[in-house]
Amino acid sequence: MKANRKSAGITTPTVIEVAVPAPVDRTFTYLPPPEGVVPPLGCRVIVPFGRRSVTGIVLGEGKNAGSPPVKELKQITRVLDREPLFDEEWLEMARWVSRMYMSPLGEVLATMLPGARRTKELPDRTGDEPAVAPTPLDLSAEQESAVRKISRPVDPGAEAWHYLYGITGSGKTEVFLQLAERTMGEGRSVIYLVPEIALTHQLFEHISRRFGPLAAMLHSGLTASQRLGEWRRIQRGDARLVVGARSAVFAPLQRPGLFVIDEEHENSYKAGNAPRYHARQVALWRSVRAGAPCVLGSATPSAEAWHLMGTGRLTRHDLTRRLSGGSLPGIRVLDVRGASGLISDPLREALVRTHREGAQSILFLNRRGFAGVFQCRSCGFSADCPRCSVPMTFHKGRNRLVCHYCGHQEKTLQVCPGCGSLDVGYRAFGTERVEEDVQRELPDLRIARLDTDTTRSRGTLGTVLRRFAEGEIDVLLGTQMVAKGLNFPGVRTVGIIMADTGLNLPDFRAAERTFGLIVQVAGRAGRFRRDGEVFVQTLRPEHGAIRRAVRNEVEQFYEDELALRRTLLFPPYTRLIRLVFRSRSRDAADKAATAFAERAARVPRNASNQVMGPAPAPLERIKNNWRYHVLLRGERLPDLHRWCRSILSSYRPGSAVYVEIDVDPVNLL
Ligand code: ADP
Ligand code: ZN
Ligand code: ZN
Repeated sequence: MKANRKSAGITTPTVIEVAVPAPVDRTFTYLPPPEGVVPPLGCRVIVPFGRRSVTGIVLGEGKNAGSPPVKELKQITRVLDREPLFDEEWLEMARWVSRMYMSPLGEVLATMLPGARRTKELPDRTGDEPAVAPTPLDLSAEQESAVRKISRPVDPGAEAWHYLYGITGSGKTEVFLQLAERTMGEGRSVIYLVPEIALTHQLFEHISRRFGPLAAMLHSGLTASQRLGEWRRIQRGDARLVVGARSAVFAPLQRPGLFVIDEEHENSYKAGNAPRYHARQVALWRSVRAGAPCVLGSATPSAEAWHLMGTGRLTRHDLTRRLSGGSLPGIRVLDVRGASGLISDPLREALVRTHREGAQSILFLNRRGFAGVFQCRSCGFSADCPRCSVPMTFHKGRNRLVCHYCGHQEKTLQVCPGCGSLDVGYRAFGTERVEEDVQRELPDLRIARLDTDTTRSRGTLGTVLRRFAEGEIDVLLGTQMVAKGLNFPGVRTVGIIMADTGLNLPDFRAAERTFGLIVQVAGRAGRFRRDGEVFVQTLRPEHGAIRRAVRNEVEQFYEDELALRRTLLFPPYTRLIRLVFRSRSRDAADKAATAFAERAARVPRNASNQVMGPAPAPLERIKNNWRYHVLLRGERLPDLHRWCRSILSSYRPGSAVYVEIDVDPVNLL
């Protein structure tokens, strides 16, 4: 036996290439399991890895040519799957994700495949959805035209990218569902992505009533084995409409024929952990390979999408009318500079009047304010970096204002340059206090609060929404949770308590988000009635994002915003790769970021590529880890990728520092 192998190499043993979930950029070779069966590509296996035992994925088999020596190879312990979880074509997508998001293939596969992921509970049913019909609706002329144009045949390799730009409540869902029906009628399958918000439950119920077992619903409430069960149904072609959040984009579809991304602008489509993939990007890529249309939709497109509509790469389809008997509400802006209470008189009167007339209200407050931002309490002025135009952050220890993108510093201001007021400093804002104030000011109204604190206990969300639907609650007060997706006929009045809190985030997308949020929240009013009213309280009524949102000047907003992005060289005119250096030791994180930035400046690069930073990340410390970041910016992603790889190839962050890589980051905190 031994002699044989040496002499002719005829019986070189079969070895198996396995990807393991480890932060190393390579795969590993193993010998077949004791039973001697060679598991095919796409099966999960248990393998010894260092001192541990891990779940790996079989990528293929080969012949051992002597390196590494066979006697050093370990054996696969056990094969978990009888049938593969994916095929060659699917693996190509995984390889693309790995390259695109600079994340090792093993980690990518661990994220993409149903496996050992933490499970979360699903909110309870939210009560009956009065306006949703179980059968297809008669489409309006605009809807009809969108369906017709989007469902044209597509050649493999061609970009058939569409945008359904429709005002809130204009019936985008029905367009998506009828497109899905057509696609399935042709024997092809559909991926329909929704943001991971609790409220997609309404849509899930509708779809399961309408499509029955042909639909697979991938939500965060599934256990690992339920998820695997759905995966198999999809693989077999039993389920041909896959509805789910971000990771559903990886479903192993038979003959993909349509990709839908609802609420395309939502940040939840971007993964927060490695691989930090964007589901929108993956869907667009997949659709081209499949020769299938990809449709994005929203009432508040991302600036990236708006830009692509302008260049014609995304084909735009407009829905301009509400179809349930409602109309867009009137919006009033309330300047609350210098006000003492949280609810101004006109808003309080509207809440009382709405209640008296038997209708309901929603009050929205944006909790994602940023405490460290330096602001004038009299006029709302915030000190922005002259180079990056994002708010600078106050550093008490150094008594300085610091830009968290580029590191620029200035002396702390004593007097507001905007209005001369001396009342400048931090601005903080607490949800509970707002609730207390509202309760006190409106003692006769039944108020319920909905945010991540109050809905932590099981079933609360469902209960509150059901009570609201049944009219047992007059005012629903909440954070982002009440901003989107809610479709309640009784809502006449919407109040935004402080529209500009989000503007203080040190993020170049702050204006885009603020604009989108106002439009979305306002969109909760008057969906089924013509007397909807919205009140927007703000310290900065003259700010473009607020002014344009309250006047519903959508086109103008994007025009201004894109012009600014072009001037400041931010996406969509450039691409970014963000590197975060995180460590228990502040000094180590700082040094690692500095060393990286210095190296970046020395490595040859395309002229349009720039280093920004190092700077402390706006969220400078999370869970005892200090965070510093560096941004790489450039006109073309392939150049940026290459540059980043060559910096990393000769760079070691030090043992106590962990490096996070984020390609096309949506969040720079
Ligand atoms: P969007 O997603 O654009 O905000 P929805 O899809 O939630 O809007 O639709 C808003 C409402 O309009 C829903 O109650 C839906 O049932 C209704 N609707 C949609 N299309 C039609 C139609 N063709 N005829 C009548 N009602 C419709
Ligand atoms: Zn001021
Ligand atoms: Zn700056």
